[in-house]
Amino acid sequence: MKSFDLIQPATIDEALAAWQPGASWLGGGTNLVDLMKAGALQPDTVIDVNRLPGLREIETLSDGATRIGALVSNAELASDMEFARSFPAIAEAVLSGASGQLRNAATVAGNLMQRTRCAYFQDPNAACNRREPGSGCDARAGENANLAVLGWSDACIATSPSDLCVSLAALDAVVEIRGREGQREIAIADFHLLPGDTPERETALQPGELIVAVRLPAEARQFAANARYLKVRERTSFAFAVASCAAALQMEGGRISKARLALGAVAARPWRVAEAETLLAGHLPDTDLFARAADAALAGASPSGANAWKIELARRTVIRALTLAAAGTPARMPALPASPFGELAGELAHV
Ligand SMILES: Cc1cc2nc3c(=O)[nH]c(=O)nc-3n(C[C@H](O)[C@H](O)[C@H](O)COP(=O)(O)OP(=O)(O)OC[C@H]3O[C@@H](n4cnc5c(N)ncnc54)[C@H](O)[C@@H]3O)c2cc1C
Ligand code: SF4
Repeated sequence: MKSFDLIQPATIDEALAAWQPGASWLGGGTNLVDLMKAGALQPDTVIDVNRLPGLREIETLSDGATRIGALVSNAELASDMEFARSFPAIAEAVLSGASGQLRNAATVAGNLMQRTRCAYFQDPNAACNRREPGSGCDARAGENANLAVLGWSDACIATSPSDLCVSLAALDAVVEIRGREGQREIAIADFHLLPGDTPERETALQPGELIVAVRLPAEARQFAANARYLKVRERTSFAFAVASCAAALQMEGGRISKARLALGAVAARPWRVAEAETLLAGHLPDTDLFARAADAALAGASPSGANAWKIELARRTVIRALTLAAAGTPARMPALPASPFGELAGELAHV
């Protein structure tokens, strides 16, 4: 690993002042340190944000919004019972990611900022426009069976690996940011960027800006009774999604009054689909309706390589996630969170 300076600031202002081009923030280190060890990332300076005060709380604000500090660990978020009851699709998404040990270390901000799992991005010897602008994209003629089917460009066909972000996108989360110029916020829908001609620009964060919190609007709680996250993966645990879907419904008199839908692992950002949501609203839930919503969700999808199969898989994932959401949020988290096999009997992991 290339040597680097480690800075451990005690305040946010100190952290912002310490940042310089070539520096990286360090949260739990579960992604950054792996990439540094592989030689894919080589920051000159690592700024450890773990000592910054006031970033570890989950709070309810006076307007009913819920604010999650950037340093709340993935494990703390999913195991906070009040939070899980209010936002079950988020708890289910978090619990479906990584492993217990990783979730203990990984932070909410780090999860938002984690890098793609495209194998060529992680290999410093491969051509990768995202890691090294203008170098090419070895994935185009290489291992691309699990890469993007929506929003990709000739320059990059990578997907976002985050489960958490898919449920956050469905529920209209907002990312709170601090920079030397002050504080600002970005809707999560605008936070992750599609690759276009500049895949190296992955988020709307400007150099030197720090995520301090993620906020869920008060309205997000109104989906608690009918909200699920479904994740299809090659193994039932400790594996990234091949396709995933967060589905959240508000039901009135048996009809869907409002719907929220976002897909994961199909594009470089969570894929929120307003057309599908509009199509669902006002109708009685049934499989035909869900199939039409799934078609709308995948409208515009096209293979970026040997991954045409992923379009149909994602379509079926949407139908199944909507079916599960319409059936109601289970009183207890399933033994296998977010799994298609989640209804199997088993030890309850989250009671
Ligand atoms: C084997 C394995 C399996 C995994 N499986 C899954 C999975 O199934 N689903 C899933 O969603 N995730 C999965 N993960 C990813 C894991 O969730 C992420 O590694 C983790 O969320 C990153 O959090 P961290 O705090 O460790 O980030 P770090 O590794 O510390 O940082 C990651 C990135 O975030 C930046 N960063 C950190 N904090 C801030 C901040 N406050 N503001 C701005 N930038 C910041 C860093 O500079 C870096 O670029 C897996 C990881 C591993 C190693
Ligand atoms: S798909 Fe994107 S991340 Fe993967 S090699 Fe191509 S440019 Fe790099």
